[in-house]
Amino acid sequence: MDDDEVVIIGAGICGLATALALHRKGIKSVVMERSESLRNVTGAAIGIQPNGWRALDQLGVSENLRHTAVRLRRYRELDISRGKQKEISLNPMDGETRWLRRKDLIDTLYAELPPGTVKFGCQLESIKLDSHSSKPVLRFIDGSSIIAKALIGCDGGKSIVAEFLGLKRTKIFPLCAIRGLTYYPSGHSHDYEFAKINKDNISVGRVPIDDNLVYWFCLFPYIPKDGKVWEDPEVIRQLTLELLSNHPQEIQQMVVNADMKSLSITHLRYRAPWDLLTSSFCKGTVMVSGDAMHIMGPFLAQGGAAGIEDAVVLARTIAQLDLNSVESGSMIMVRNLEEAFNQFVKQRRMRVVRLSLQSYIIGMLSGAPSLLKKIMCIMLLVVLFPNPYNHVDYDCGDL
Ligand SMILES: Cc1cc2nc3c(=O)[nH]c(=O)nc-3n(C[C@H](O)[C@H](O)[C@H](O)COP(=O)(O)OP(=O)(O)OC[C@H]3O[C@@H](n4cnc5c(N)ncnc54)[C@H](O)[C@@H]3O)c2cc1C
Repeated sequence: MDDDEVVIIGAGICGLATALALHRKGIKSVVMERSESLRNVTGAAIGIQPNGWRALDQLGVSENLRHTAVRLRRYRELDISRGKQKEISLNPMDGETRWLRRKDLIDTLYAELPPGTVKFGCQLESIKLDSHSSKPVLRFIDGSSIIAKALIGCDGGKSIVAEFLGLKRTKIFPLCAIRGLTYYPSGHSHDYEFAKINKDNISVGRVPIDDNLVYWFCLFPYIPKDGKVWEDPEVIRQLTLELLSNHPQEIQQMVVNADMKSLSITHLRYRAPWDLLTSSFCKGTVMVSGDAMHIMGPFLAQGGAAGIEDAVVLARTIAQLDLNSVESGSMIMVRNLEEAFNQFVKQRRMRVVRLSLQSYIIGMLSGAPSLLKKIMCIMLLVVLFPNPYNHVDYDCGDL
């Protein structure tokens, strides 16, 4: 590939959305992905709430995606141990919530990019700044290197770009999540609802994607000792069945019938909200976005949507500086990009601090060992987030 391009590291949701947002604004970029092909299976499915749909509308991909998943009518949370249930209707006037297969989202974003935008099998190893031009010099694991016009790190929770920027390491919750998909050839009998079923510190989420496919997850508060669980789907399934041995029979059956390829287990990570408040997310023409900037617990189902919002805001900010009128590689170009990245961080910081703080407190609440800690978490949530669904009303604005 050529030197002096806008380089995005990582073809996850955020990297692809960023390349597409830039493309829609007439700005060329190249995405370098370490995997040999699109990573569109891991994680099974992803919830997109009204704020996420607004961002997808701006990217021009929402219409196709709407047809891939049913619209949910409510959230329902059931505590089996205490026999308590709470329901929240999702008002159609307030926008839509659907759980998409990750494959549908990733494939759709990818298909909208000009051919050749994503280069597979390119694992970034290190970054340094060129001593003359201050541009980032990227070295890949195969020994090749390039000088980029700008570098956008969308390389996830263990980001090399974040490390280069001197960001603190991400932290881990004492919680793991198992995710999977189950196909019902003759249709399932579940309502169009997000159901969360809690029992003995273990939560199971169950959401229909369409009339035959159901996404589910299981959150549990310890780290499995058997190393094989990170690689072997059969071990993941057995572990899930052990964890859910006291849950209703139909939930266990859903796990028994799961599509083996869809099963994955993740140790949950987050960037501390107070680090988000103070960190520098860009240096010169290098910046981070998506999980690399603000990985958070999945308790609000917002991390991926926040990465899509990032993409819209970043492309708009860069486009406002009209790079096409400036000679490529000139110092003015470099300064304009630096300015765009600074503005992006300014616009996004408080949005991601609030999301990640709310998510962090909910995570602490589910893992709190004592009643006193639980009460403190609940009080913090009530004071700081009196409307707990406010975050879905957010509009990242026009591209
Ligand atoms: C259990 C769970 C449930 C979730 N549910 C939801 C939900 O319902 N809704 C929601 O919005 N979000 C949800 N999220 C969060 C969401 O999955 C993430 O925020 C989102 O996938 C992050 O996308 P990303 O592109 O920033 O990073 P990633 O998906 O991590 O992508 C990073 C990409 O960079 C590549 N890469 C990494 N290092 C390098 C390198 N050195 N060189 C080249 N390439 C590299 C990787 O291979 C990968 O393709 C959930 C997360 C979890 C864990």
